Amino acid sequence: MPFLRSVCIAILIVATTFAAERNGFLSHLNASLEDVRSANAVRDASGQFVFVAIDAKSLQSVGAWPWSRQVYADILDQLTDSGALDVFFDIDFAFPADAAGDRAFAEALEKSGNAYLAVFQQPESVDGAGLQTNRPQPLFATQGWPVLANVFSDQRGLVRFYPFGRQIEGQFLPSAAALLSGRFSQSEETFRINFAIRPDTVPTYSASDVAAGLVPGAVFEGRSVIIGASAIELGDLFAVPVHGIVPGALVHTLAAETIAGGIIPVELRATWVFVSLFGVLLLLQTSPLQNPRRTLTAAGGTLIATEAGAFAMFLHGSIVVPTAAFYPALAVHAGWYVIRQLTRDYWIIRRQRREVESTTGLLQQVFADSSDAIVVLEASGATRICSQSAVRLFGLDPEGNITLPDELWREINAVRDGEWQRSLQSRFVNCAGHRRHLEYTLTPSQTVEIDGGEERSTQIITLSARDVTTIKEQERRIAQLSNFDELTGAMRRNRFLGSVERRLKTRDALAIFVFNLSQFKAINVVLGRDVGDEVLRHVVKRIDEAELDVTDVARLGGDTFACCAIGPMDHAQTLERARKIVATISTTYDLETAKAQVGARIGFVTIRPEEALSPADALSRAEEALDQSRSLKDGKPQHYDPVQSKRQFRFRQIERSLSGALDRGEFQVWYQPQHRISDGQLIGSEALVRWNTTSMGRVSPDEFIQIAESTGFIRDVGRFVLEQAVEDALAMPQELSVAVNVSGAQLMGGDVCDDVRRVLREKRFPASRLCLELTESVLLDGSPDLEETMRDIQFLGVGWALDDFGTGYSSMAYLTQLPLEKIKLDKSFVMSLGQSRAAEPIVSAVHDLCKRLGMKLLCEGVETEAQLAFLQANGCDEVQGYLFGKPMCLTDFQRYVLAHTKEKEAARVVGQ
Ligand code: C2E
Ligand code: CA
Ligand code: CA
Repeated sequence: MPFLRSVCIAILIVATTFAAERNGFLSHLNASLEDVRSANAVRDASGQFVFVAIDAKSLQSVGAWPWSRQVYADILDQLTDSGALDVFFDIDFAFPADAAGDRAFAEALEKSGNAYLAVFQQPESVDGAGLQTNRPQPLFATQGWPVLANVFSDQRGLVRFYPFGRQIEGQFLPSAAALLSGRFSQSEETFRINFAIRPDTVPTYSASDVAAGLVPGAVFEGRSVIIGASAIELGDLFAVPVHGIVPGALVHTLAAETIAGGIIPVELRATWVFVSLFGVLLLLQTSPLQNPRRTLTAAGGTLIATEAGAFAMFLHGSIVVPTAAFYPALAVHAGWYVIRQLTRDYWIIRRQRREVESTTGLLQQVFADSSDAIVVLEASGATRICSQSAVRLFGLDPEGNITLPDELWREINAVRDGEWQRSLQSRFVNCAGHRRHLEYTLTPSQTVEIDGGEERSTQIITLSARDVTTIKEQERRIAQLSNFDELTGAMRRNRFLGSVERRLKTRDALAIFVFNLSQFKAINVVLGRDVGDEVLRHVVKRIDEAELDVTDVARLGGDTFACCAIGPMDHAQTLERARKIVATISTTYDLETAKAQVGARIGFVTIRPEEALSPADALSRAEEALDQSRSLKDGKPQHYDPVQSKRQFRFRQIERSLSGALDRGEFQVWYQPQHRISDGQLIGSEALVRWNTTSMGRVSPDEFIQIAESTGFIRDVGRFVLEQAVEDALAMPQELSVAVNVSGAQLMGGDVCDDVRRVLREKRFPASRLCLELTESVLLDGSPDLEETMRDIQFLGVGWALDDFGTGYSSMAYLTQLPLEKIKLDKSFVMSLGQSRAAEPIVSAVHDLCKRLGMKLLCEGVETEAQLAFLQANGCDEVQGYLFGKPMCLTDFQRYVLAHTKEKEAARVVGQ
């Protein structure tokens, strides 16, 4: 698109210039340019043409004008004698003068034979109508050659062109110059006289000197001589380019020189000029030149180059290049471009100014309305500009300068002197008499200002400040709330941990105490929450105020607190401190509305910095110690015990895993065979639960049953084992019984009886095949309901066995009270047979006891034939142990049953 536009513009300019040229508007300029080139391309005349001038001196020495033609005769004779090539008289010989002179001249002409006489054409009258031809009078005309001696001026009255000849009265007359230069042709055309030839280099002699024979003949020999008037009073003068006014004869001379020298100026065809002009215009519009100064320079440069080229062509080839068209064209182009650029600049500047105005307005608005206080200060400290909020924050002095606090001035001066790094500062300063917390930055910068047309760089310092007093206050409050308990003012857990961390960092040995109020819930319930809250406040206050040498009292939650004692302490000292804490707390609280008393359990841990224990771990150890204390009946202060802690950890892990283990199907029931000792008969099995967890692998019942009992989960497990054992027993021979373990916790719950009844009914299982084993430890926790529940179950037809007899604290009284039909002697006795001397009498005594009470005796843990033999010899009824089989899964047990039945069958066959 821009290229097309460039082409159009170039075409337009070229077309316009072309039209101007065609209409002659550029001819003057072209002529002037040509003249300038001629004036500078000066060259000397060839010397081939000699001018004999009828000058003032000649007029003076010869006298009265017109001269007798005797003078011309003398001159011609002299020239003829000198061997001049030809002679041209630029003198009007139309009319006769004195007869003697005329004759002499006619004779001289005849003698010469090479003399040309001027023929003029001139207007007949002043008004210019009609032409009259002045020819030499016949007397001369017969002796000399007529030549055209007319010289023509152009519109500006300058002689530029010269004819080759002209048709006069039906006869072609060659021009004087054409004849003298020997280039005679029949052409009526004119040609340019080359005015680079300096007229003053044409050899010139006074006519009178020549007539008097004062000029040596050699100067004329072989030359063409032109004789004509040069004296001003003779009026034969013409205006020519470059040289001003010159005698007509010199015009002929220069014309002759032009032809003879072959330097006729020839004008170059305008087409070439315009084509190159077009090219130049296109070139000027290329993008590197799209800038007013460059455009003007390029246009000027083009003109200079064009002129230099034109001059060179004139100098070396006499070619006249009409370069005038370049001037208006380039002027128009440059002018157009500059105007266009200026206009564009004007609009751009106008738009930018508007934008700047609107942006400035906007910025001023933003600046004024900014919630941050912004102050721009000069290096002198004077306020250049400031926001409304700055005025509100700092205030103004009577001179309108912002009144900044001294500490800010100090920093501003440091910034100005380059001694202070800019960064966000946050601090309290005194603002107009108030203490405010400011966040601020000080930024030095340089601005450029125009002062009297000169750019000047000045330093300014910008203060941008924000009043964060309220925010900081809120932050402080939030921190306070998150760090301290609102009710008691004691630290919160995080703050406490932070404090412990700091102390450990300062390499202090310390003890952490964690205590929990006992009977506090009762206070809340009985005396109300307000009293409870007051007790909590007093607890903290007492610990703070009593001389316990502890610090950092924290409320960890509810009625659990912590505190620290700093410095190295041995176990006894720490224990003493813990006891004191408990004693302090346990003293009666004399409150406004009531008296209250609480106790406390306390756990503690001592930490040495080199242990590299994290504060959280340290606190949790103290909490574990508290847990230990709480699990104890006497509730003594507990020091953190790693073994106990490990156990507790395992306990918690199992406790967590137990919930949901049934739903995940992690439990299985395995069976261990029980045999009659008298004939080795398989009589049944004991159902033993197995737990395969995903996280801990297989966990022994010895470990998890106790935990399940403590959490009450044992009831669900017990129900599962009962149902599964009965279900599995249905698939076994009817003579086989199944023994299911029942935990004391199950019996306490009181729904075992319902479970047993429901299962027997639902599965249609004969009660006589079911035996329940009661672990002895239950007896210690025994309650009156226990016996009743057992009897209810016995009433259903289910037998009871007392498990693990001989361990724990058995009471003989229970043996008689409870509805037992079997005693299971603990495996420890059987296993110590042959090792401990006490084992054998005990086994015998238990056997006697059973016999007397009408109970059966089952011995557990039979592993060897020797043990079996002993038990057999001592009247034991039933046995169970690895000697017969380990607990096995149902499939294995069924296989076992099958194998045993076959064995029995075989024995029977052998027996028969
Ligand atoms: P327990 O009732 O005395 O069960 C007998 C335990 O002795 C079983 O351990 C068994 O594997 C092991 N045992 C049997 N014969 C021998 C032997 O010849 N040598 C040795 N060293 N050990 C033998 P288990 O299965 O680990 O059971 C441990 C305890 O867990 C049981 O002792 C019982 O008190 C309890 N328990 C097991 N299953 C249940 C259940 O379903 N409910 C309840 N409440 N308790 C169960
Ligand atoms: Ca058992
Ligand atoms: Ca047992």
